[in-house]
Amino acid sequence: MARTLKYTRRASHEVVIGGYKIGGNNPIAVQSMTNTPTADVEASVAQTERIERAGAEIVRLTAQGKKEGEALQPIMDMLRSHGSKAAIVADIHFTPEIAMIAAEAVDKVRINPGNFRTSNGELERLIAICRRRGVALRIGVNHGSLAKRVFDIWGDTPEGMVESAMEFLKMCREADFHEVVVSMKSSNTPVMVHAYRLLVEAMQKENMTYPLHLGVTEAGDGIEGRIKSAVGIGALLADGIGDTLRVSLTEDPENEVPVGKMLVEYFRHRDGEFEVSDEDYARYSPTVFSPRTTAKPIIHSEITDEYDIVDATSANPTHEWRAVILGRADNRPKVLRRRYEESDPERVAIYAAADMGQLLIDGLADGVWIDAPALDEATVADMELMLLQASRLRFSRTEYIACPSCGRTLYDIQSTLAMIKARTSHLKDLKIGVMGCIVNGPGEMADADYGYVGSSPEHITLYRGREVVERNIHQSEALDHLIEIIKRDGRWHD
Ligand code: SF4
Repeated sequence: MARTLKYTRRASHEVVIGGYKIGGNNPIAVQSMTNTPTADVEASVAQTERIERAGAEIVRLTAQGKKEGEALQPIMDMLRSHGSKAAIVADIHFTPEIAMIAAEAVDKVRINPGNFRTSNGELERLIAICRRRGVALRIGVNHGSLAKRVFDIWGDTPEGMVESAMEFLKMCREADFHEVVVSMKSSNTPVMVHAYRLLVEAMQKENMTYPLHLGVTEAGDGIEGRIKSAVGIGALLADGIGDTLRVSLTEDPENEVPVGKMLVEYFRHRDGEFEVSDEDYARYSPTVFSPRTTAKPIIHSEITDEYDIVDATSANPTHEWRAVILGRADNRPKVLRRRYEESDPERVAIYAAADMGQLLIDGLADGVWIDAPALDEATVADMELMLLQASRLRFSRTEYIACPSCGRTLYDIQSTLAMIKARTSHLKDLKIGVMGCIVNGPGEMADADYGYVGSSPEHITLYRGREVVERNIHQSEALDHLIEIIKRDGRWHD
């Protein structure tokens, strides 16, 4: 028997968010998040409008305290009086009381189940407000901030993330409240992809059809940040998973929107069906990572006779490659090759990452060849290396886990990231977290070797892994101190 691999969107139910609908047959909505202090109503409105003009349907604002929570109503009033149609989401991390205030003002509330108790009626109270006002809820699970009770059983794993989401989804279903969206973000693309796929599996078993919000956290900036986001988000979109998405970049938030739109547009045209026998397909599992070979992951200039090149020419390259590679029973390592005629390097990088990332994460391929005749060799080689790194197959440069910044950010993260890169980008074995706030930063910088985290305005706390090494030093000295720590650890070279 054979099965046909083709693009089909996962069935989800429709959820209303302000004037937009996501899920069902609605187009995949693109969103971004402000990084102005939310209590500064005028600045937040102005930035929300810039994000909307860039094309986003949904805009999120952080509401970390009462002051910010109470600013949401005047923000909504001003936006609507200006004619803005953007659906507005409040991001709540820690304080359930603020979620209640926010739900009285906005179109959707995002909560992190890691910080919400399930035993004291907090969620039920929030649901009651959401139901009364027609407000949607996002259960936003983040790798790195799971509740202790989940962490103690499952650890910081995709399974733990799924457990955390399912606990809340079941409570929502129990309350007969279905205006719920779910996300499972991580800065580690294989963790992110596996978490979403496991969640889809767990929801299917429960006959749940909640729409999914996709995102890779702390992706960084520039081409590197775009590739990392496109690998994670593209790997899921290729299989029809995802109803709304946010590309997180350490740049102005309006820069995120065209990247998100480009991904949505790219996956609108996925014609192509490919047959694979059941026997061959049995070698593949979307939820168990098992590389086919132990070959060194390579870029096209490193190809030797040992490697087999697999070309994809259809509009559905991900399924084409999956079918061909599963159909070849040999043990030769596979290099994915595809031609991209575009002359814009950003577009080529995003398309290639979205096409090839899934095969790399799934262990089906061992190398990439981006055949882009309009770009020069060095640019393409660099992109290929970034793609292998974003899929966590080969580390050839310092990995920066940089948050996109939000209203909680305590220093100028864009210029600081550039400064840190200028002095450390030759340390290719290191992962450095650059995070805007100490509330979420340490949890979300995941497996960084060192962390540079905002702890009070213009003050930084430095981490080695999860351990605080220096607390609250002024920003003017922080980078020198970080370098000193790396030197003392014997991990620096010139
Ligand atoms: S880590 Fe960055 S994006 Fe996340 S809450 Fe803190 S400042 Fe905002």
